[in-house]
Amino acid sequence: METGVLNLVGASLAEVAAVLAPLDPRPYRARQVYHWVTRRLVGRIEEMTDLSRTLRTGLAERAVLTDPRVVEVRTAADGTTKFLLEMTDGAMVEAVTMPMGDRTTLCLSSQAGCAVGCVFCVTGALGAGRNLTAAEIFGQYRVLVRHGRLVGTPLNVVFMGMGEPLLNCSGVFAALDLLYETVSPKRVTLSTSGIPAGFAKLQALPRRPNLAVSLNATTQEQRLRLMPVAARWPLEDLMRSLRTYPLERGRRITIEYVLLAGENDSLADARRLVRLLRGIPVKVNLIPFNPDPEFLPHLTTPSAAAVDAFGACLAEASLNVTVRWSRGREVLAACGQLRGRMARSELLPRLR
Ligand code: SF4
Repeated sequence: METGVLNLVGASLAEVAAVLAPLDPRPYRARQVYHWVTRRLVGRIEEMTDLSRTLRTGLAERAVLTDPRVVEVRTAADGTTKFLLEMTDGAMVEAVTMPMGDRTTLCLSSQAGCAVGCVFCVTGALGAGRNLTAAEIFGQYRVLVRHGRLVGTPLNVVFMGMGEPLLNCSGVFAALDLLYETVSPKRVTLSTSGIPAGFAKLQALPRRPNLAVSLNATTQEQRLRLMPVAARWPLEDLMRSLRTYPLERGRRITIEYVLLAGENDSLADARRLVRLLRGIPVKVNLIPFNPDPEFLPHLTTPSAAAVDAFGACLAEASLNVTVRWSRGREVLAACGQLRGRMARSELLPRLR
């Protein structure tokens, strides 16, 4: 992108007003342009048809609308559609749409790659990348909504794609403001590996999304084996942060627990999990591991019986629990899988 030219896709209302000021300083003009970008999701400045031709021409000299480029789209039998998207510098990320009844859930990435390195995650196996900008995050939303013809339909948005959102607070929080133009904060969920330092920033937001924490372990030793992030932020600190996290009325923290055969799926694990969560308003999502023999050959999915027994133990303790088998398995819908194939089959030869 040309230096000094504003990408309207990630621009705040104030930035839009500043770029429009020499052309038309009236506040309602800035709101008009902002809404074309954030609500109506137009792809070109010429489509802002309630602006005069002169204003559109002037705006096009100072600003652009640049969304991520769609590299690949795969749709599974259950309607889950996975997108591989390229940023202007060539960084690749994944985003997913999942139809669920009358709503569609969009899963967005916050970073291109991830330094957290969870052992069960292909993105983690691919290593660190970079933070995405607000334009690159909100651009994913725009691409997915336009592609699925979802403008004006009920949506949920989850930050469960590539990256750790609380290690990119500035990009993610700016993108949240843009998303909130059409999606209620109650319908947005930010999923984190558990960065207590990020919780404080999240708490300070005037409009907070739902919080989901990827826990996956019931002892510090086990968590350290699965999630190296536990070395810096131990399980005990994480649980203390969750106990004191101020929740808005009627909300609960979602605890995500990826079940790995022989690692964290025993009844002893389930009982420890019950004790760990006692007194915290939570709902638990059990996620049987989505196998990936190519990138994560050492990990396997528990049997359905083991998953049922684990879930029953939590339910008996009156925990609100759901089992979420990965959707769209045939389109590699777990985090990083499509990008992982790209890394192996296309990116590596390109880099040679
Ligand atoms: S699960 Fe999330 S935090 Fe962990 S490595 Fe993957 S993308 Fe990063």
